[in-house]
Parts: sequence; C-alpha cells; structure tokens
Amino acid sequence: MSGEDTDKQAIISVRNVRHSYREGDGIKEVLHGVSLDFYAGEIVIIMGPSGSGKSTLLKLIGAQLTLQEGDVRVGEHELKGANADDLMRIRRDLGFIFQTHHLLDSISVLQNVELPLAFDDTATREVAKERALEALKTVGIDAQAHKKPSHLSGGQRQRVAIARALIRRPKIVLADEPTASLDQKSGREVVEIIRKMAKELGVTVVLVTHDNRILDIADRIVSLVDGRLQEGQM
Ligand code: ADP
Ligand code: MG
Repeated sequence: MSGEDTDKQAIISVRNVRHSYREGDGIKEVLHGVSLDFYAGEIVIIMGPSGSGKSTLLKLIGAQLTLQEGDVRVGEHELKGANADDLMRIRRDLGFIFQTHHLLDSISVLQNVELPLAFDDTATREVAKERALEALKTVGIDAQAHKKPSHLSGGQRQRVAIARALIRRPKIVLADEPTASLDQKSGREVVEIIRKMAKELGVTVVLVTHDNRILDIADRIVSLVDGRLQEGQM
C-alpha cells in the first residue's frame, strides 16, 4: 500500500462529468464535461458565478445526485453504478456544510452535534456526548452547548454546523457557500475555523463559493464558468 503512486493518488477524482436537468419539455446541460482531482489534506475552493454548476458538481461528489455521465471516485468508492445502500454509506463518510446551517431547533446545540453519531454503532451515548462537547470546544461554542440553535447568532450556528460535520471524523468535507448567509466578520471566523480544523485533522475540504473575500484560505482555487472549468487558475 505504500509507494509514490499511492501517495500521489487523488482522494477524489472527477472525470468527464456531464449533468443535465429536465427543464419544461427540454433538457438543460449544466456541467459539460468536468474533470478534476482533489488530493488528501488540501483545501480547494471552487468559485464561479451563480448558476455555473458549482452546487451540482458538489452534490455529485457528495453522492446526493445520481451520476449521469462520466466517473466520480470518492476515496475507494466509484459512484457510477453504486446502489442506494452504497451511496448512503459513502455519504455517511463525508462531512457536509451548507449555506444554511440545517440544525434542528427542537433539540439543543449539543444534541444536534451528536446526531450523526446515532448512526454509528461503535459510539455509545457517553462517547457521543464527549465527542460532541470536544467538537464544540474546538469551534469555540461549548458554552452554548445546552441552548437551542435559535438562541445563537448566525455565525455561531454555522460553527455548530461545522462541529456536526466533523463529528464522524470524515476525511472529506464538502461545503456549499458556507459564508453566504453571514456578515463579513462571522464569515471570516467560519472559514478560519474550517481551515484550522482541516489542517489540524488532515481533512480534505472542497468548498464552493462566489465570495471572493475568503479565497485566501484555499490551497488551490479552480473556477467553474457555465459548467466548464477554467484553465490556468492560480
Ligand atoms: P451554482 O451552485 O453554481 O449556482 P447550480 O449547480 O445550483 O449552480 O445550478 C446550475 C444550473 O442548473 C442553474 O441554471 C440552475 O437553475 C440549474 N438547476 C440546478 N438545480 C436544478 C434542478 N433541480 N432542476 C432544474 N434545474 C436545476
Ligand atoms: Mg449553488
């Protein structure tokens, strides 16, 4: 399992991916043959104007959309031909951060962060709680653990969402416009936390954004315009 070839192998590989949506009577192609590799531990920002296909690409990588054409490999899993069970298993190994926090308001911050561990047979409730508290501490929200998400600010809620995304210790985190509903200061705090956690934990981050104030946290930036990658980026 060692050797240069495996060291250099991409953790995510996207090959000739095309994707279209049905639109009225017609079909609209939004990704026109995208190929891209992501390497372990790097933070890659995919930027591009609204409607350029960023979320579609991220959802394909995250096994949230059925792959129509081309190939995507996530870790050792080929998404083409994967059945619903395979896709669910692949999704469980990924961390997701969205534009809006998707926290449940009927339960506490701590319970929200513990929730993904409910699917994990190896984590007892005690362990789940301990790990959730630890994750909240890392994002600086442990003092709010017993509050309801609605009692937190937008930036604090997004930090809770980061803790939740990382609780299952994913190797890959996919973030779709994580700062879009935040003011500049909170947005900055959130991306700094994403960067810090990615680097400390060796997590690969694919972050989609059209917010060019956060580009400096990336190790690499690629642009998607009208469903095509732009060459020669940084
Ligand atoms: P971005 O995230 O870069 O804004 P998206 O991937 O969300 O772009 O969307 C790309 C294009 O595909 C847009 O024109 C959008 O309207 C269209 N689109 C996205 N999702 C759907 C859908 N579920 N059905 C039909 N069209 C869609
Ligand atoms: Mg989008």
